[in-house]
Amino acid sequence: SQRAARWEKGVKVGEGTFANVYKGIERSTGRKVAIKKIKAGEMKDGLDMTALREVKFLQELHHPNIIALLDVFSVKQNINLVLEFLDTDLEAVIRDKALIFQNADIKSWIAMSLRGLEYIHRNGVLHRDLKPNNLLIASNGELKIADFGLAREFGDAGSKMTCQVITRWYRPPELLFGSRFYSTAVDMWSIGTIFVELILRVPFLSGETDIDQLKKTFHAMGTPTEQDWPGHTKLPDYHEIGSYPKNPWWNMISSIGKEGQDLVKDMLKYDPVARVSARKALEHRFFSSYPRPTPPASLPKPL
Ligand code: ADP
Repeated sequence: SQRAARWEKGVKVGEGTFANVYKGIERSTGRKVAIKKIKAGEMKDGLDMTALREVKFLQELHHPNIIALLDVFSVKQNINLVLEFLDTDLEAVIRDKALIFQNADIKSWIAMSLRGLEYIHRNGVLHRDLKPNNLLIASNGELKIADFGLAREFGDAGSKMTCQVITRWYRPPELLFGSRFYSTAVDMWSIGTIFVELILRVPFLSGETDIDQLKKTFHAMGTPTEQDWPGHTKLPDYHEIGSYPKNPWWNMISSIGKEGQDLVKDMLKYDPVARVSARKALEHRFFSSYPRPTPPASLPKPL
């Protein structure tokens, strides 16, 4: 097609569930891009939707901490998304044992994630798949939220939504109990678990099944009471998990300091209504207190 001619497709750099990702170059400028080619052959109705969702949301969202969609074109039956090229992601950063993180670095990554997320929520969108692998890192160190294949609007308050979203380890308890009237708080839980993972350098709650995920969550943070989380026993898939005692689990992240522990606790409140919003989280003392967040260009990055 005419539009495809603007981009030169290079080597394959990644494979996702619904797409192959190639390195590419804008012919007129030499700018590096990523070309995400949606797998057409295996495309069923559901898969088709993820590409459409990604295009729809990325066309509307413009923010320094959200991946930029530069173009969309089709060749034969295939849809191709042209995205800004990003060198690495937060998962690779966390796993690279050669890298040492300071608290100021963690503060910077969490602040950038929250700025992108606050903008997404302000525009009436839920991301619904936040995980380290979807927080991409640009060559200048800027963090950008990617992969809007599961995103949706929440403007229509009170509308029923599927609970089969968010990769298990980052999924909040209300979704694990089958809640269908959730909101922006689901994304905040994901950021909370990513925050803890940045401190511990291992996933915080790594359940092997959905039930095991709830078990690990309650084992770590105590089984919620009616007071902690009003009404949770009425959720569609509620079942008793066992009564784990409450202990000061935040002691295991004491290295981040009191303000950081306090913010993590606000992000991981069982009651979604009580959980902190992205906007409020950005106003938290953690971000204004010493040490200052590391400037993006000075953040640690794999070679
Ligand atoms: P997933 O199904 O894992 O969410 P994606 O389809 O979004 O994956 O991407 C698959 C892989 O392609 C990623 O893990 C990453 O290695 C690479 N990738 C995706 N987007 C970009 C980008 N904008 N720049 C560079 N690499 C990318």
